Amino acid sequence: MTVKVRFAPSPTGFLHVGNIRAAVTNWLFARRAGGTFVLRIDDTDLARSTAEYERGIETDLTWLGLTWDERHKQSARFDRYRAAADRLKADGRLYPAYETQEELDRRRKVQLSRGLPPIYDRAALKLTEAERAALEAEGRKPHWRFRLDGRRVKWLDLIRGDNEVDTASLSDPVLIREDGAFLYTLPSVVDDIDMGVTHVIRGEDHVTNTGVQVELFQALGAAVPEFAHFSLLIGADGEALSKRLGSLSIQDLRAEGFEPMAVASHIAKLGAAEAIEAAPTMAALVEGFDIGRLGRAPARYDSADLARLNASLLHAMDYAAAQGRLQALDCDLGEPFWLAVRANLAKFDDVKVWAQVVRGPVAPLVDDPAFLAAAAAVLPATLDLEAWRGWTEAVKQATGAKGKLLFAPLRRALTGLDHGPDMGPLLPLIGRERTLSRLAGATA
Ligand code: GLU
Repeated sequence: MTVKVRFAPSPTGFLHVGNIRAAVTNWLFARRAGGTFVLRIDDTDLARSTAEYERGIETDLTWLGLTWDERHKQSARFDRYRAAADRLKADGRLYPAYETQEELDRRRKVQLSRGLPPIYDRAALKLTEAERAALEAEGRKPHWRFRLDGRRVKWLDLIRGDNEVDTASLSDPVLIREDGAFLYTLPSVVDDIDMGVTHVIRGEDHVTNTGVQVELFQALGAAVPEFAHFSLLIGADGEALSKRLGSLSIQDLRAEGFEPMAVASHIAKLGAAEAIEAAPTMAALVEGFDIGRLGRAPARYDSADLARLNASLLHAMDYAAAQGRLQALDCDLGEPFWLAVRANLAKFDDVKVWAQVVRGPVAPLVDDPAFLAAAAAVLPATLDLEAWRGWTEAVKQATGAKGKLLFAPLRRALTGLDHGPDMGPLLPLIGRERTLSRLAGATA
């Protein structure tokens, strides 16, 4: 069997860490199996779907390296959904119901007050032709409900193991609204059938839907795909993340300067037992991916983890990988520069600070001009990688300063900052002329 999976976002908002997880997991699953990854735009809600959100989804997927092999839009496939609906109607599985929302609410309240489960009572199934005609003559339009079998639907979930949903405990779901609009369920199943989707991988908020959808696959005479439902996402504090998901949009993370591989690595490992480490490439992430390692326990999203992964990627990044980006920032000061500063970067753009330190102008921080003058007097003629050690030794001899009192004033004068990369490799990059000026207190 060739694996085929889909990521099916609704273009009614921007992608965030919660829903991009379905994209990352499906993509890794497909690539790991040498299968096909489908991008399906679930835009049956024509009023809320926008072209801007659709473009945003593609931009975010592309930024993360989640390339798709096929792309479909539900709005181009309404004839397929109508055909499926006709078939279900002919088989008596899709029936018209005329209740208004208020009527349904009232009935639900009565059921609850009697201690009964608030399930749709199927009153519409009992309507005679004449009663239906009378309702339509009143101007009522039907919505259409799928008549559930009312049985235990079981499947072996790739993440949750043995799983079952008792469809007898559910209301017959509305598949078509009274204005003729298709709700999510039927188009999703029709597409999964038509596109030959072999595995449906999504969040556990869809577990109940799966019970319904399995019945729909069967009602439409199709094979039922395999299912995997990953666990809920929670924040570092253990609270459900959903309320704050808006602030964790992928475009915000991009704007904040996170590396796509840090974001992808973090999301790929959410809910896995092993420690979260950054993978340098998507290929490496695919290599280490195993859906069976995802667990049922809630997955913790921690922005501190993301920051740590981001830094670790930069600290290990070689010059070849960084060079183009350094050039784009006008900060390509050569490989020794990159190697000298990369360990100090939290975000790539931090490199601008260190390029400025090397090139100047830097306003030195001067505490004791006499000390700096004494240091200048013993500055070696040639500043190579070994120069810092010899120089600071000579300054120590000349001034008697040692430890922090020796090193901190030199760093503050040379970089205008209290902290930063090792001074050893930085000193030759700053060069003799700028070093002497800064030691003399001049901005250079
Ligand atoms: N458009 C649906 C959603 O975003 C797709 C769910 C599914 O994967 O079936 O929730």
